[in-house]
Amino acid sequence: MRASLLRLELGIATFSDLLQHYPYRYFDRRNICPIASLRPDMDYVQLAGTLTNIVEVGHGGKRRMEALLYDSTGRIDLVWFGGIQWLKKMLHDGGNYYVFGKLSEFGGSWSLTQPEMEVPGEDTLAGQMQPMYNTTQKLLQRGLSNRSIGKLTQALLQQLAPQDVPEIFPEPLLQQFDLMGRYESFGTIHFPRSEEYLQAAIRRIKFEELFASQLVVARARQQHKQQPGYVFARVGAYFNDFYQHHLPFELTGAQKRVLKEIRQDTAHGQQMNRLLQGDVGSGKTIVAVMIALLALDNGFQACIMAPTEILAQQHFNSIAPLLAPMKVPVALLTGSVKGKERKQVLAGLADGSILISVGTHALIEDQVRYQRLGLAIIDEQHRFGVGQRSRLWKKSELPPHILVMTATPIPRTLAMSLYGDLEVSVIDELPPGRREIRTVHRNEHHRTRVMEFVRQQIDQGRQAYIVYPLIEESEKLDFESLMAGYEQVKIFFPEHKYRIAMVHGRQEAGERQRNMERFVRGEAQVLVATTVIEVGVNVPNATVMVVESAERFGLSQLHQLRGRVGRGAEQSFCILLTGNKLGDDSRLRMNIMVQTSNGFTIAEEDLRLRGPGDIYGTRQSGALRFKLADIVADATLMEQTREAAQSLVASDPGLQHYPGIRALVENTGQTPFWGKIS
Ligand code: ADP
Ligand code: MG
Repeated sequence: MRASLLRLELGIATFSDLLQHYPYRYFDRRNICPIASLRPDMDYVQLAGTLTNIVEVGHGGKRRMEALLYDSTGRIDLVWFGGIQWLKKMLHDGGNYYVFGKLSEFGGSWSLTQPEMEVPGEDTLAGQMQPMYNTTQKLLQRGLSNRSIGKLTQALLQQLAPQDVPEIFPEPLLQQFDLMGRYESFGTIHFPRSEEYLQAAIRRIKFEELFASQLVVARARQQHKQQPGYVFARVGAYFNDFYQHHLPFELTGAQKRVLKEIRQDTAHGQQMNRLLQGDVGSGKTIVAVMIALLALDNGFQACIMAPTEILAQQHFNSIAPLLAPMKVPVALLTGSVKGKERKQVLAGLADGSILISVGTHALIEDQVRYQRLGLAIIDEQHRFGVGQRSRLWKKSELPPHILVMTATPIPRTLAMSLYGDLEVSVIDELPPGRREIRTVHRNEHHRTRVMEFVRQQIDQGRQAYIVYPLIEESEKLDFESLMAGYEQVKIFFPEHKYRIAMVHGRQEAGERQRNMERFVRGEAQVLVATTVIEVGVNVPNATVMVVESAERFGLSQLHQLRGRVGRGAEQSFCILLTGNKLGDDSRLRMNIMVQTSNGFTIAEEDLRLRGPGDIYGTRQSGALRFKLADIVADATLMEQTREAAQSLVASDPGLQHYPGIRALVENTGQTPFWGKIS
């Protein structure tokens, strides 16, 4: 019964789970506090005294037990809601007890709710650093308090011999990183002898967690490296002609470096899996085009995939003219390319007459055949599933080289976990002449002035975005606020003088696209939108980004939105409109946005504020689920485990010599002792 509750409530099914139900904090029980010296800022306290006035009050679910505790300095109320049967047997009037619990103040007097009671000298946990475990209301009612979990764990540890928890790391690794042994660290984390031992145990266990996840990544990476791929040996006419005659500007140093990295990667007969990170506007498109030309020079086709129709269309619109003078056959393939046109594109891809294709995931649907696909470039990867990536592999004899591009800067530690199996290139330099976007934070009181400012910009011939939040849970509400916003915008921008386009998720794809295009072509001066415009959209003439209810956006998202402006020669502005009252967190986010435009800084801050779960849709990612380790706080340790994991995999890819480590990674490592709790 208790066993099944443990499993249901805390996911503890085996002894190993119990051992890994780590304390969330420790309380130093060597201190006993006189009641007279209690202070409101204390949370958990230990008292010692005599118990009186034990009474049971209430009925059924509201039943509780109360008592008074005295010491020589004062008195305090004790209240219990759970485990009453057991308490009745254990507690008696006039008895002396150690009492441990969370202090609260009510109506000027002190009380402890659900305190743990101990008879001095009897089977005691007092006098040590006492572990505190998460428990639940249901468990408490069954008498499984924090303290009884401690006792269970203590009993388990007493039965465990060192050989039951064998060391899995080789001695040199333990020494190199100064790690506590495995057996000792499990014992220590529950019942530490001292703070110093505790820290060493925590470090060992974190190391193991991070090491396991880095090992998974290192093995995947090793496998990629062994994957044969096409050889792009030549730099030929396509690439050179473009470079010498058709490149519209001088490449930045970062763009050149990245091109070199990619060329290296594709030249040696191994398949490339590379992530290209570059802040919005850093010029990834031209890099993509040039790598595609490299593929052509070596007799291959290339495809460029975007997550949405609008973006695919836009890529096509910017790429096709670049290549037109060289007469490179380029085609667009999306869901809305239909009928005869579609047939032609499919035929061209299959017979190899179309060399570069731009599109959505329509490019990798089953019926699409390529004559010789050698390279796939995927833009804004976080919207592409892993499954889609693997579908690509089937499009060619050998898997094509893959270049994933993202404008979402990913903090290094996160990238190590999520994309650690990919090689990484970074464009960390913006094209010259780019002006910093001026960012301000305004509230409702300033709305009229903000709109007047936007109107001035438009009267000077510029365009503006006004973006509304879209939060899935209340789609209807958001839609209404978007519509209300639209009506309001119309007041500031009367129809006889201004054109407003609107795009949102409830429109048909076709309608959305037509509205978007009106803005892209400059026919509409204002685009009222939900976040569907978040990624990639490029309208150099747009100089103002107004974000409505900006406090409802995360930092990374705000940064993405801001990146929609500042793409032309004119000074651009980002105006974050929020409510008048803001929480600390929201205010902090607004300040960060105002202060910095560095995407990596913002991504790091976002990670610190929100944790990895909410960002980048990584909630489900097992790569980030750690019991103790924290990818923000333990970045250094993570770097160390990454190195260690890579060198281990390099020396022994199958982990033949390290069965314990292999078991850790493959999650099968149960020695007989680690059976189910019954
Ligand atoms: P992103 O990395 O966000 O996809 P783009 O490739 O769309 O950025 O480039 C943004 C803008 O900068 C485009 O208008 C592009 O033509 C221009 N651009 C790219 N590289 C350079 C460069 N080296 N010098 C000048 N302008 C450039
Ligand atoms: Mg882009």
